[in-house]
Amino acid sequence: MSELVSTRIRTTAAKLGLPHLAESLNQYAGRADEAKMGYLDFLDLVLAEELAIRDDRRFRQGLRLSKLPHHKTLDEYDFSFQPELDPRKIKDLATLAFVEAKANAALLGPPGVGKTHIAVALSVAACRAGFSVYFTTLDDMVRQLKAAEAAGRLNSKLRTYLRPGVLVVDEVGYQPLERAEANLVFQVISKRYEKGSIILTSNKTFSEWGQVFGDEVLATAILDRLLHHCDVVSINGPSYRLKNRLAAIDRETAA
Ligand code: ADP
Ligand code: MG
Repeated sequence: MSELVSTRIRTTAAKLGLPHLAESLNQYAGRADEAKMGYLDFLDLVLAEELAIRDDRRFRQGLRLSKLPHHKTLDEYDFSFQPELDPRKIKDLATLAFVEAKANAALLGPPGVGKTHIAVALSVAACRAGFSVYFTTLDDMVRQLKAAEAAGRLNSKLRTYLRPGVLVVDEVGYQPLERAEANLVFQVISKRYEKGSIILTSNKTFSEWGQVFGDEVLATAILDRLLHHCDVVSINGPSYRLKNRLAAIDRETAA
């Protein structure tokens, strides 16, 4: 390959936003030589590899913006520890059909059963599939929205929670809310209705949401939007956190 042509390819690749192609030109050419590739196969290889690299970059950037607390996957979730949970229910969710349909998923159950773990795993999968994701606890979202409202920037803050394709609202029900706070939550839920997915986790049953939101009418209005298109998965079983803790205590006392 002449120096002139390779310089021109590098410049064009950079302009097209393909820095990897610009860097790996010689390597690509070497591989084509070695495998005696035809023109179409060579083009196919280059385009497929550049696309994979771009997707991977988007995925990693998406994960950074998602504020997910960790990046655990479903492979790391031990279904045998929760025999009452049907793995098919979670695997169905992992197809992301509900995200595609702008529907919701609710994971309910006591502490330590893996609600956040599963919400995160679904989010990582969504992110890999190219959806934008944003993770928040309910309390943090309310705090942020209240502060923004006080500063006259409510609409711009609301966009943080309305823009992503998937909004994870973790820990609904840990703290009861005041009416004004519940009203901010209603705004998020109603504005996302049929526009983007919500994955929520809660240690409360829906019938207890009246207490959480301090107002039965508001709680009903929130549940009405949320549950219209929603897969609900209840996980009733032992705490995985406690399992590890109890095993550690057993070891300590045995030692
Ligand atoms: P929850 O949100 O229901 O309180 P978490 O998702 O935070 O529970 O889970 C607590 C910890 O236990 C996390 O580190 C999580 O990865 C782990 N965990 C929970 N359930 C399982 C499981 N069945 N298999 C593997 N790890 C689990
Ligand atoms: Mg949790």
